Amino acid sequence: MIPTIIAVLLVVVLVYGVLHRKRSVLRKAMKLSMSFQTQSGKSDQKHPKAHILLLTKFYKRSKGRGRFQVPKPVEWFERGPIGVKEWEVEGQQRANNMANGWRAVLGEDPAITIRRHIRQGLLEPAGLAGQLGWQYTIPELKKLLREREVPISGSKPQLLQRLIRADPEGMKEIAGTLVAYQCSEKGREIAEAYLTEEEEKWAKAVEDIFCALQKQHLEEACRLRAAFNAEQVFQPGIGILTDWKHYDPTHHLELLRIIFECRPKILASLDDRQLGVLRPLAGMMFLCGEAPRKERIPMGIDATLIMSAPAAIRMIYRYAWNQRNIMGWRKARVRTVTIVGREYKGHQVCDVCKKLANKRFTLSSLPEIPYGECTSPDGCLCEIKPEFS
Ligand SMILES: [Zn+2]
Repeated sequence: MIPTIIAVLLVVVLVYGVLHRKRSVLRKAMKLSMSFQTQSGKSDQKHPKAHILLLTKFYKRSKGRGRFQVPKPVEWFERGPIGVKEWEVEGQQRANNMANGWRAVLGEDPAITIRRHIRQGLLEPAGLAGQLGWQYTIPELKKLLREREVPISGSKPQLLQRLIRADPEGMKEIAGTLVAYQCSEKGREIAEAYLTEEEEKWAKAVEDIFCALQKQHLEEACRLRAAFNAEQVFQPGIGILTDWKHYDPTHHLELLRIIFECRPKILASLDDRQLGVLRPLAGMMFLCGEAPRKERIPMGIDATLIMSAPAAIRMIYRYAWNQRNIMGWRKARVRTVTIVGREYKGHQVCDVCKKLANKRFTLSSLPEIPYGECTSPDGCLCEIKPEFS
């Protein structure tokens, strides 16, 4: 009995210790980055978490498969993808936008932040393998291996190792002078703590938003999403660009109300109760951009439909999306629209919908989309394209 109690206590203390350590690592890192924020340039877009976010760009977790190092050279944040040619205006534009975006939230040049991370021992040179791994894709590495008559199977790190073993001098030469960095042990710890905390925050936001939608507290749901977004270093958009710090929910509410009131023809076989269960999930698809988790999808809905429950949820969302667009197009005096069937990821447009494809309609003669007669198990994939005169 007593040994069991001691064991349980020990576990509790250990777990608490680990959690507490993670939090304190993050707190220290935050304090550090805050002090630099106050020292360096003034910008109202400056974000306290930006310095740590930049550190995590040198480290990534793949879902459930442990950790990745993402070596990157300092120059990447200033010039964007290496290999962007002078005449590739678009690529260069994107690179500049990225650098400017970072400059705004950091309050200083990203290169300065990265060099500080290096000085503090949070980043370290990734070595020859990291340097090559950053510059070459797997097919390119395989080509290099073939040229040296070395086996080409295995993961990227294995390919890199084999190449360096086969031709160290040649690899040094093609790696060039660009030095790539990755997180050190200390840097990894901070990045890990940050990413864990952000994941937990997102999971909680998703749960809260779902709860609000189930209670049909639509405005609260919008505000919860806005509050989460306002905290982000780079402000995300849902559908349209939004200023999350001074948020006006009108636009999002309009669409959510349609989701909660509509009766799309394509779901005519569902009763009110069944539709009522699907509506919050369609709202989630809009506000959180997430396909609903399996355990949230009610059983027995499929039986009354040709399509799956996730497809039915998407139909509610698509219906609301189209209705709101049509209202906007009326105001903008759009006269004609075209229906396009979009096939994606193996989902196919059904024969009934194919007959609608590429046909033009006036807004008043337009059939309801998602199309009620659709026979696809994926639901109707038709989209409406407006023609602005
Ligand atoms: Zn169809």
